[in-house]
Amino acid sequence: MNTQTKLAIIAISIVIPLSSLVVYSTNSNQQFTHIDNPKLQVISSFNPLHEFSQIVGQEKVDVTLLVPVGVEPHDWEPTIKDVQQMQKSDLIVINGVGFESWVDNLVENNYQGTIVDTSIGITIIHPQDDDKEHSEKLEDPHIWLNPVFAKKQVQNIALAFSDADPENREFYQTNAEKYNEQLDLLDSKIRNELSNCNNDFIAFHDSFSYFAKEYDLNQHTIIATNDLHGEVTAKTLENIISTARELNINIIFSEETINTKTSQIIANEIGGKVLVLSPLEIVSEGNYISKMTKNLENLKEALC
Ligand SMILES: [Zn+2]
Repeated sequence: MNTQTKLAIIAISIVIPLSSLVVYSTNSNQQFTHIDNPKLQVISSFNPLHEFSQIVGQEKVDVTLLVPVGVEPHDWEPTIKDVQQMQKSDLIVINGVGFESWVDNLVENNYQGTIVDTSIGITIIHPQDDDKEHSEKLEDPHIWLNPVFAKKQVQNIALAFSDADPENREFYQTNAEKYNEQLDLLDSKIRNELSNCNNDFIAFHDSFSYFAKEYDLNQHTIIATNDLHGEVTAKTLENIISTARELNINIIFSEETINTKTSQIIANEIGGKVLVLSPLEIVSEGNYISKMTKNLENLKEALC
């Protein structure tokens, strides 16, 4: 985070909590918004969580997506305006596992609402790394790409909404359960349709580890695993081309939002072709289930 943003967060967090203390005495932020606006004011950090929050909350909540449309959430930092908006919200729904690096600042600076860490209860993967100092940073955040974990995230959202707004507990729980039935169907579909196929695939960045673990697949990546969003070097290209040859892989995956040139170079080298495997990180057409179903179709073309 740059110094300017840091200073802005500190400045805002000093001004806002103090002013709300003066006006509303010791009332919590939540009571304040209940008087002003009966809907829960929710901020979701990025696209899949935005969709899940809307599905669970429907007309009882106002959900605002934090990372703007078209922006990749990994390295995103909030603006002063974003921080002001966050300070006014009842709940902020985050992925957790270090995906939202800005959240610690918000907590340190006395955010009055609830931060909903949707990774609670999910077993986190720590990619291999010799550099112990950085091991914490290397936790793999891509839990939403495993539908079994996505279900848990939906449940965590329903629980948080129910705690913040107990009158509508049943509403939130029912919405979550109904949606999770669809995620169950998606899960069985993936499990069944990939069960008799090959296991090794080449993704662009290291985003499908949880998915691969769930469905007994081996993910190889163009971008090195230890360098989540690093650069493609001649060495990594060479390595992945030889991996593709060894494993007889002829589909190289790309992501819908990135330049497909790198994947195309590898595909040309091995006489294969490029398909999309979306990590669902930025807003694009379709919803979680339709995009995961499209991912499944492309994986089947690669593996079956
Ligand atoms: Zn990612």
